[in-house]
Amino acid sequence: MARVLILGGTAEARALAGVLISAGHNVTSSLAGRVTDPLLPPGAVRVGGFGGAGGLAAHLAEVGYDALVDATHPYAATITANAVTAAAMTGTHHVVLRRPAWSDRPGWTRVADHAAAAAVAAGRVFLTIGRQEVAAYANSPAWFLIRAIEPPDPPLPEHHELLLARGPFTLDDERTLLRDHEITMLVTKDSGSPATEAKLTAAEELGVTVVVVDRPPLPDGIAHVRDVDGVLDWLG
Ligand code: NAP
Repeated sequence: MARVLILGGTAEARALAGVLISAGHNVTSSLAGRVTDPLLPPGAVRVGGFGGAGGLAAHLAEVGYDALVDATHPYAATITANAVTAAAMTGTHHVVLRRPAWSDRPGWTRVADHAAAAAVAAGRVFLTIGRQEVAAYANSPAWFLIRAIEPPDPPLPEHHELLLARGPFTLDDERTLLRDHEITMLVTKDSGSPATEAKLTAAEELGVTVVVVDRPPLPDGIAHVRDVDGVLDWLG
């Protein structure tokens, strides 16, 4: 039985907590505390930042975790880098659980970051990138339908409508949404999540241009698995 800290905030982090608890491990999940009403994993939960890599290292040492599983979202690059540093500082066994990216579909444009996506945004844009980076689109003259779980951080684009919603979303609903708002372009992160994949199929069906903001790369040389079973194998 291992004492495991899961850095969470994703569906697979919640699933992992349940599986590890069932396997007899002692699990604590950590959430950043960004969402007012988060979906909670089973087992012990702590909420809030650690105060950088040093704070996370201090927490790892204080509790004496055997393993650190970084199951954060593929775009949560700061906590992922901090986990690498903290694990090295404390000698904690560390792995990243990162779901695979979506496979490209015909006609997708991939861009490196939100600045590049904002530069090509045009027409009537469905923006599904979460709430933290919408400001990168603030100077775009395009019209945006912005979907996020909670209101985005300002400034927002001049022409927009805000839709507060949490997935999963059905294909029927996504089709209707794109049609009703006469969407011509979808801008999305490559979350790889089945819960938000239907919009890609709807966009393909309706001939909507798709712009995908690429994932930040994983730090070099770290252990990395693709799913919950991979973490179980890694724990041994
Ligand atoms: P981030 O930019 O990588 O991290 C910023 C800071 O937030 C970190 O330095 C850390 O603060 C704190 N933090 C992040 N994840 C944490 C966790 N699981 N437990 C404790 N503190 C955490 O992170 P982010 O992109 O804002 O994402 C925040 C959370 O939302 C993550 O748990 C992530 O899995 C989830 N999420 C993110 C996205 C996304 O698109 N980015 C989408 C869905 C869910 P300290 O330095 O003070 O420790």
